[in-house]
Amino acid sequence: MPMRLENYCSPEEWEKIQEFSKDKETPFLVVDLEVIRQKYQELTTCFPIAKVFYALKANPGAPVVNLLRELGSNFDIASIFELNRVLECGVEPDRISYGNTIKKAAHIKYAYDKGVRLFATDSKADLQNIAEQAPGSKIFVRILVEGGETAEWPLSRKFGCHPDMAIDLLVQAKNLGLVPYGISFHVGSQQKDIAVWDAALSKVKYMFDWMKFEEDVSLKMINMGGGFPANYISEVNPIQIYAEEILRYLHDDHGDDLPEIILEPGRSLVGESGVLVSEVVLISRKSRTDLNRWVYLDVGLFQGLIETLGEAIKYPIYTPKMDERVQEGTVVLAGPTCDSADIMYENSHYQLPLNLAVGDRLYWLTTGAYTNSYSSVEFNGFPPLTTYYLE
Ligand SMILES: *Cc1c(COP(=O)(O)O)cnc(C)c1O
Repeated sequence: MPMRLENYCSPEEWEKIQEFSKDKETPFLVVDLEVIRQKYQELTTCFPIAKVFYALKANPGAPVVNLLRELGSNFDIASIFELNRVLECGVEPDRISYGNTIKKAAHIKYAYDKGVRLFATDSKADLQNIAEQAPGSKIFVRILVEGGETAEWPLSRKFGCHPDMAIDLLVQAKNLGLVPYGISFHVGSQQKDIAVWDAALSKVKYMFDWMKFEEDVSLKMINMGGGFPANYISEVNPIQIYAEEILRYLHDDHGDDLPEIILEPGRSLVGESGVLVSEVVLISRKSRTDLNRWVYLDVGLFQGLIETLGEAIKYPIYTPKMDERVQEGTVVLAGPTCDSADIMYENSHYQLPLNLAVGDRLYWLTTGAYTNSYSSVEFNGFPPLTTYYLE
């Protein structure tokens, strides 16, 4: 896999990040807010009919929230702590969706008292809690959909319910004085197969019809979740192709009269904004004839690279020595902690220059999503990943 920096980073962006990073001690994450701005504009251009609810968990940093608030985004939150973050940044409660189906009654009340009126659910117990703690709110029910096979970071199984049960919940919502508002799904993060949206939307269409003709309830909204890709090593279609296809599915099902459409992007909005700067701590071989070098870095699974678990997300990695055209060899890449799970890539056969040395910098590209938010607090004493935001 020949690594070409220009496939991941424009020369101007690289220049800016290099200049900023040069005297700082690694490891750290640099997030270029300009990239998020471009990604947001690209998405809203491709999906002019959709309302964007940024999934905060991808990067909950205040500068990211502030930027997206200014750009007009709405926010998908998973806890009252994320709720507090967006409220502190001045986001109005009618721009917030409580999208986690797993929540304490007390937290539902907290959100309701702050003005949140849009809630996800996928179970009777949670629906009951919402009816009691957040009376009159709008409800959308999350359904189970396929997609686990072709998503690099699947999100299915834990959330969502079968469409038949979702219908029961929507009927019950009405009986409990709530507003049965819509249906949501998430096809899995970094979803490479666009056709899974087609299958999910067919289920949604069936439910819209059922609710209308059998229950006399007209649902108003489809929440298509996230799943749109960021640019890692494996090839993906551009967002324009996702949008064209998905809009076609929507119009095939609903004609010209589309319901309200919500998107909840996380990874695709912020992933490409980040470069994680790390340094080689040690290079060794495990035997005299070992073909692989073990390269130990000052970042690992506990400083933001948790999505390398199972080697699921394959980040592009760059070091300036790659431009010297020296021969490259296979490496195992591991982090600095005493946990033997702290190995990023052993089976993916990453190639790095043979003259790589201790102290060299390795740049992890497309690390703006699901890195700093996942970083541990002080495992082995290592501090959480420092993040800098560039305008
Ligand atoms: C994580 C999550 C998202 C964001 O998914 P991406 O694949 O990062 O875009 C959206 N909606 C919900 C409910 C989520 O849990």
